[in-house]
Amino acid sequence: MPESSAASEGPSAGFLPYGRQSVSEEDIEAVVSVLRGDWLTTGPAVAKFEADLAEHTGGTPAVAVTSGTAALHVAYAAAGIGEGDEVVASPMTFVATAATAALHGAKVVFADVEPDTGNLSVDAAAAAITSRTKVVAAVDYAGHPAELDALAKVAHDADALLLEDAAHSVGGSWQGRPVGSIADLTTFSFFPTKNLTTAEGGAVVSGSDELVRRAQAFRNHGLVRDKSRQRYPDEGAWHQEVHEFGLNYRLPDVLCALGSSQLKRLTEFKLRRAEIHARYNAALAEVEGVLTPPRREGADPVWHLYPLRVLDGRRRALFDHLRGLGIGVQVNYIPAYWHPVFEDLGYRRGLCPNAEAYYEQELSLPLFPSLKDSDVDRVIDGVRGFFGS
Ligand SMILES: *Cc1c(COP(=O)(O)O)cnc(C)c1O
Repeated sequence: MPESSAASEGPSAGFLPYGRQSVSEEDIEAVVSVLRGDWLTTGPAVAKFEADLAEHTGGTPAVAVTSGTAALHVAYAAAGIGEGDEVVASPMTFVATAATAALHGAKVVFADVEPDTGNLSVDAAAAAITSRTKVVAAVDYAGHPAELDALAKVAHDADALLLEDAAHSVGGSWQGRPVGSIADLTTFSFFPTKNLTTAEGGAVVSGSDELVRRAQAFRNHGLVRDKSRQRYPDEGAWHQEVHEFGLNYRLPDVLCALGSSQLKRLTEFKLRRAEIHARYNAALAEVEGVLTPPRREGADPVWHLYPLRVLDGRRRALFDHLRGLGIGVQVNYIPAYWHPVFEDLGYRRGLCPNAEAYYEQELSLPLFPSLKDSDVDRVIDGVRGFFGS
């Protein structure tokens, strides 16, 4: 169904956000019908959403959870990390990629990124591995898949798992294989600015039955209901047991219905994002003073962000200039270890020079499916005007 009205998409004059959801009348109907039904929380819409999502991950099973952050926390729990373990992680990410590992008691070892894509460097990840490494956590920055095969090899050679934080890249693929079908554990976010939304929401995807079972358990308090796995199976039909602590990270039916409805438009969203990305590239590639985002051979990104690189220390001035024009640019991200919580643990600036250089130049231009070409041109004019080109 087409967008119902301009009002549901926000005005194009006035302030342009950098990201925005695209909610159709059909999405609204899907949510309303769940509200009218018998189940609000864990009913049939959860299993349906998980199955629908698996159609975009090459059939790899999904576990729906309440956010991308919850997905990471659950994925690390499934991997069994704890005190004394190390997680090698990209710093060019939202803090949750690292914070959720730290919350399990693991030590986060930040490894530097490639200078052009901002994705975890294979060599840096390999150099950061120790005998205590349990997980290598890569991020598909901006929606461009990381070097997943090489990173999986680095992880597996060390008896560790590859976790792919694919909060930006659901619907993308790498060397012909969909995101979700490559890493041992893949996590998604369905926050409104991401490639599809359930308001708050996320998912863990894994091809391993054991990792899926552990993820399902952690999502639901660690409850064991399967009699064959219980320590005291003869207690009674009501009986359930907790063998390992978990949390309540269950994504409710109401939001799963929204997710299933949104998934029907993921391909359309991806195409529109690619068009906007290409329009920016064409207009900005020749502008002196900026670099447009690269794309690796074999990468089929879902462009969640348009990360422009602003040279010569002018990023902040361009940010202020565009904000002054009502254009909602963003910066993604400060290196995760710059957060005072990591600084207080002894992490120091200078640790990952490529990530720091990337951060100093990065400026995310508005990018979301309902952005009109005229909105994109307004952003382009704003950038070109700044550089006088
Ligand atoms: C958005 C995001 C998250 C967290 O997802 P939420 O759904 O907001 O909790 C984690 N990692 C990355 C890279 C993200 O962009």
